[in-house]
Amino acid sequence: VSRFEGITMAPPDPILGVSEAFKADNDERKLNLGVGAYRTEELHPYVLNVVKKAENLMLERGENKEYLPIEGLAAFNKVTAELLFGADSPIIQQQRVATVQGLSGTGSLRLAAALIERYLPGAKVLISSPTWGNHKNIFNDARVPWSEYRYYDPKTVGLDFEGMIADIKAAPEGSFVLLHGCAHNPTGIDPTPEQWEKIADVIQEKNHIPFFDVAYQGFASGSLDADAASVRLFAARGLELLVAQSYSKNLGLYAERIGAINVVCSSSDTAARVKSQLKRIARPMYSNPPIHGARIVANVVGDPALFNEWKAEMELMAGRIKNVRQKLYDSLSAKDKSGKDWSFILKQIGMFSFTGLSKAQSDNMTNKWHVYMTKDGRISLAGLSLAKCEYLADAIVDSFH
Ligand code: PLP
Repeated sequence: VSRFEGITMAPPDPILGVSEAFKADNDERKLNLGVGAYRTEELHPYVLNVVKKAENLMLERGENKEYLPIEGLAAFNKVTAELLFGADSPIIQQQRVATVQGLSGTGSLRLAAALIERYLPGAKVLISSPTWGNHKNIFNDARVPWSEYRYYDPKTVGLDFEGMIADIKAAPEGSFVLLHGCAHNPTGIDPTPEQWEKIADVIQEKNHIPFFDVAYQGFASGSLDADAASVRLFAARGLELLVAQSYSKNLGLYAERIGAINVVCSSSDTAARVKSQLKRIARPMYSNPPIHGARIVANVVGDPALFNEWKAEMELMAGRIKNVRQKLYDSLSAKDKSGKDWSFILKQIGMFSFTGLSKAQSDNMTNKWHVYMTKDGRISLAGLSLAKCEYLADAIVDSFH
């Protein structure tokens, strides 16, 4: 009898499990709107031209594969903090940020969670309801207590701003407040600049620590600066804050696992100590991070021509998603005779749309229409083409009624 007999079957991952089910479906109308990965209008995966150019440069230079330091590639850590806060930010000039290369967004969040667990035991993390499915897993596995703040209002398919503020206010003083820097996942609903100011007021009042998850910088609006505005607003107030970054979406480096954790501290001295402890946490977990993606980012951002080309490609990707969003809205408005207002789709931003479809309705989308999506009613517009909008609209209208 196996020593592992007591291990039960784990359920499939609610997001990545969708792709597995999609692969097993042989219907030619099938659509995978589950995982958040950019596709071309032909629905093929996309490798950015700047990435190919950077990789060619790297090959020509014949760079070696020696271990990176625990904190990652210095050139990467420099540019990633500059992209986030702005190169002229006082935070960078005063060396108040501890930046450590992480295993993309997920690994960077996990490092921060371990830091909280070890050095601020008992501190709670507030997460939005709903949020990206992996947030709860990350804090659970790091043994960091969390609770939810209201965010989505099903009645308006918009932001429950009053509820959000009330819940942040009611949390124990000194809690961490996890915020999506832009393009909130799964809802696609972001606070307005005025609302961000009010959120910052309450966080400051309660001595909370803002903890940003920035997985879509430049990918939401097409502008790196516009998408970093929320983080910079908090940074400008002189607050200590945490920011996890990911290059999965904006540079299409999903499988390279490249990102960073940034801990902004009140002094350079504190930042140096925090950085030393982040390294100490990383060492027994994975020793040191992979080099390939870090070099790509450093090369793209460090070369003015490649940097500009990246921005253009990002605008292209964000633009394609905006076009699909518009077409889906048009198709739904034309096909649905119930009088339902679909304009919430146009108000959402980023690669996702939160449709408001219930679990049973989402099941109908998959079982009858072969449209694969997460059971919370989220669809990835990055996996949709203009050509498939009409079909998807038929599926949604049928599933709603
Ligand atoms: N955070 C959010 C909100 C996300 O949507 C994602 C990816 O979907 C991530 C973090 C992390 O992705 P990765 O680990 O590939 O960077």
